[in-house]
Parts: sequence; C-alpha cells; structure tokens
Amino acid sequence: MVAEDRDVESSLRPKDLSEFIGQHRVREQLQLVLTGAQRRGTPPDHVLLSGPPGLGKTSLAMIIAAELGTALRLTSGPALERAGDLAAMLSNLVEGDVLFIDEIHRIARPAEEMLYLAMEDFRVDVVVGKGPGATSIPLEVAPFTLVGATTRSGALTGPLRDRFGFTAHMEFYEPADLQLVLARSARILGVDLRPEGAVEIAGRSRGTPRIANRLLRRVRDFAEVRGNGTVDRSTARAALAVYDVDELGLDRLDKAVLGALVRSFGGGPVGVSTLAVAVGEEPATVEEVCEPFLVRAGMLARTPRGRVATAAAWTHLGLVPPPDAVT
Ligand code: ADP
Repeated sequence: MVAEDRDVESSLRPKDLSEFIGQHRVREQLQLVLTGAQRRGTPPDHVLLSGPPGLGKTSLAMIIAAELGTALRLTSGPALERAGDLAAMLSNLVEGDVLFIDEIHRIARPAEEMLYLAMEDFRVDVVVGKGPGATSIPLEVAPFTLVGATTRSGALTGPLRDRFGFTAHMEFYEPADLQLVLARSARILGVDLRPEGAVEIAGRSRGTPRIANRLLRRVRDFAEVRGNGTVDRSTARAALAVYDVDELGLDRLDKAVLGALVRSFGGGPVGVSTLAVAVGEEPATVEEVCEPFLVRAGMLARTPRGRVATAAAWTHLGLVPPPDAVT
C-alpha cells in the first residue's frame, strides 16, 4: 500500500461501535460481551474475528480497546516465530490491555503453546537454557484480552479456537451498507459524492469496505482531473472503466481463477491446489481471499470433487455455458 493510501485509510477507520457500519449481529454480540465485562470490572473474554481481508477486523480490535478505554498492542502470527517473541510481548502488557494478533492462524507452534497458558491462566513458562540443564521460569502476565483475527478460522488448531470466549464471523457487506461506508468516507475526505455515484461504486466493491474506500479515492482522482470534482453516476462509471473494475468488482485474481477454471479445466471440477498453480498463487490465498467472494457472487461452487464454475461465471466471461453447467 502506498503512503498516501495508508494515511487516508487510517483516517477512515471507524473510531467506535456506533461508527462501525453494518455487521449488525457481530456489533450487537460484541456490545453485550464488552458491557457485561465492564459491569463486572473484568477484562472481557478473548475474541476471535474471522473473515476475508478488508471487512473491518483490525478496526474492530481498535474499537474494542477504545470502548474499554485501554491500550491496544498489535502484532501478527508471522511475527511470533519464537516463543520468546510472544513472551516479550506478553510481559509488557498492562492490566486490561487488548493484545491484537492478526493472522493468528500463522502463529508458530511453540508460541501457540505459550499462548494457551497465557490466555487461560495469565501466566507463561519461559524455558531458559537447553537440554537437561533447561529450567522453566513461571512468569505472571497482567490480565488482558486477546483479539485474534484470521482469514481462515478452519486453520486454527482446536485447542486455540476453544480458548476464545467469543467468535465473530464477519460477512461480506450488503451494497446498502457499502453506500453508507462510502458516504461517511466522502464526508471525511471532502468529496462531493452523489447517491447514484455511491450506488455505482458500492456495487463494484466486492462486498468489502476497504475496496469501497480504495475505489472512492481512485474515482475522486478521476473526478478532480477530468471533471469538476463531483462524483455522480456517469463519472463513477467512466472512472471505474479506466481502472478496469468490472460490473461485479471482480479483481485480477478473481478473474484469473475463473478464467483458468473455465478455459483450462472446462469449468471443473478441479482441486484448489491445481487451480492455484494454474494462476500462480498460494492455495491458501485462492481459498481464503478469492473463493469466498466468488461463491457469494454465485460464480463458483465448492463440490466434494472440486471447484466448479457456474453458468453465471461462463456468461460473465462472455462465453456460452455448457448445457450441464451448475446454475
Ligand atoms: P481487516 O482487518 O479485516 O483486513 P480493516 O479493519 O483494516 O480490515 O478495514 C479496512 C478499512 O475498511 C478500514 O480502514 C476502514 O476504513 C474500512 N472499514 C472496515 N469496516 C468498516 C465498517 N464497518 N464501517 C466503516 N468502515 C469500515
């Protein structure tokens, strides 16, 4: 992400639960968890947020800390390669802090095992030395709330998943909610976004607020450079055509996956690993980032024998679906 976009993205983050648009169930459940804990005067249970990228998991973690009036410490699964990395993080926590671990399914095994004890008993055993002379030193950890985020809750081990008191599954956003996200962002950025312009952008945002905000910034560039700054329907359309964003908002990887599925594998069924090799991506990326949206958009079906392109996918690519295509 380039610098300007990163700065703008942080300015667009919702700051409290009332500013967090959509995800009504998650918001209601989380509010209960937080208020209940606050009334009892204890840190809330550990929270797991699962869902595709850009749906607001990091924003929610920040909101949890803000609602509790405590500090947020950020790290990620890949950064916790050794148990020592986690021990250092845990020993610096102050009572009530929120520890956010992004991509928690990628945490290394020794760190994960240390996390079990920390989550359950607020202590860790730090092993000093090697071989027969190694000793384990118990260390107290201040009571904290862990917020884990994952694009792949299925990849979490059972023991880790069981230690979260509350799991929120984030869903793709409805176009109406994305229009609200866009209206809010336009207000913050000072963009003259007309309702029909918002409809146009929301419909192509892949159900994802981060993408909606990114498209808004690109459309704003277009409107300022080629127009008078106002984003109405025709400006949004013309701008999105320049950036190759199609009517459904499918991105490069979505299109590559559908294209390979239809052109190289006759529409499937084909295994996800084979499909990933065909588009030069990691199977996990295809499975976690790309497929959830294609399934939701009715373009791809997951069957026991593999991935299958639906009739809608053939049509979307401008091809005639075979008679036996899944509808
Ligand atoms: P994730 O951690 O799931 O990848 P983020 O929390 O980083 O997603 O969200 C990406 C961006 O999308 C945020 O900077 C914010 O501007 C926007 N966003 C996400 N969810 C919402 C929401 N519910 N309401 C308003 N804006 C949102």
